[in-house]
Amino acid sequence: MSGLYARESRSVSTMAHLRFFPQAVVGGSGAYLTGDDGRKLLDFAASWGAASLGHSHPAIREAVNRALCDQAGASYLSTANEPSVLLAEKLLSLVPERARGRVWFGHSGSDANETVARMVVAATGRPRILAFNGAYHGGTVGSMAVSGHPAQQGARAKDLTLVPYPNSYAAGSPEAAKDAALAYLEKLLATEIPPQEIAAFFIEPIQSDGGMLVPPEGFFKDVEALCRTHGILIVSDEVKVGLGRSGRFNAFEHAGIEPDIVVFGKGLGGGLPVSAVVGPEAILNHAVAFSLQTVHGNPVCAAAALAVLQTIERDNLVANAERTGRMLREALDRLATRHALIGNVRGRGLALGVELVANGAPALRQTALAVYRAFQLGLVLYYVGVNSNVLEFTPPLTLTEAEAQEGVAILDQALADVAAGRVDEALLADFAGW
Ligand SMILES: *Cc1c(COP(=O)(O)O)cnc(C)c1O
Repeated sequence: MSGLYARESRSVSTMAHLRFFPQAVVGGSGAYLTGDDGRKLLDFAASWGAASLGHSHPAIREAVNRALCDQAGASYLSTANEPSVLLAEKLLSLVPERARGRVWFGHSGSDANETVARMVVAATGRPRILAFNGAYHGGTVGSMAVSGHPAQQGARAKDLTLVPYPNSYAAGSPEAAKDAALAYLEKLLATEIPPQEIAAFFIEPIQSDGGMLVPPEGFFKDVEALCRTHGILIVSDEVKVGLGRSGRFNAFEHAGIEPDIVVFGKGLGGGLPVSAVVGPEAILNHAVAFSLQTVHGNPVCAAAALAVLQTIERDNLVANAERTGRMLREALDRLATRHALIGNVRGRGLALGVELVANGAPALRQTALAVYRAFQLGLVLYYVGVNSNVLEFTPPLTLTEAEAQEGVAILDQALADVAAGRVDEALLADFAGW
């Protein structure tokens, strides 16, 4: 131990902390992090999916190095630069026709969703936004304003309306979940909320922070039809589950829908801060100087993002996410037959969730203990969910089958230790998680 973790607590604010265990890291390679204690930790979180190609990927290193060797400024606010233009052109080729207009660049999913929320209202003249209960769209005032996650209580916009996201496990079946969520939405639009006042519906094609909820077959097709009837724009927040993670390039493709606006973040920069909004020209060009931060569109982050997209294509990482994800899913399904704590395994590709329950209720404490115990045994993963009881798997898209097996073996041990009471609850004292 270098004592880095303790030193951090004497110098760095806790305001951005979302900690589950006391680990400091000094390096990383591929799917592994290197602890300051010399341990190698298998990373099934990839910094919440941001390290989409794993750690220290040579393609990103080379791209960043090249961009910095002859730096084309630090921003796209007042001059155009080649990496941003190339990245915009590439992103336009990756979205459906109706979203293929212009690209806006930001630093994070938060500033991207905040920009969309302001932009759709300004461009359409409609004041209202729809989003889902449990939705996480960001941590800035404007993105929290359109979010429905319980961790963001009190920050909602007055013109935001939240509707239930279908939860197949809680409802007992996908059909029941779908019917209830659609009935709620249809009634809302027929009674309380005039649909012609709604600018946009923010959706997560898999609701990740809300608990890695996979929508029932056909649900978003029906949502799309409703939105088209009323001229409501569909905003697909692909920040965590997009860019190949779900086993398709865009996660909304599983639902067979075509959103009007697509939001990318997290894995786009492969660990560097960059986000993008792609959508129709009439909206994305609504007004100049409408949403900007000084180093938006900087060539270094744009070059990293371009390298990420090229590597996903070149190395067939979408197919790898599908294949390795299926294998991981099957291994987790096998664990479920042996661990009473596992209530449900779900997800797509390398966006998976394992919901832990005890006596029919969310097993919050056991979830936090399992994450802590896995860390002790060498596996990094976190938990999500409106009830804080869903283990989340968002490993690098480069994950191999052997790494997937290794992680599942550690989780197997961790769950057994928690169930047998071998993990001391006092360990959680400093780790409230979320
Ligand atoms: C993480 C996340 C965001 C916010 O991204 P930041 O990089 O934290 O600003 C937005 N939407 C979804 C779906 C996310 O998972």
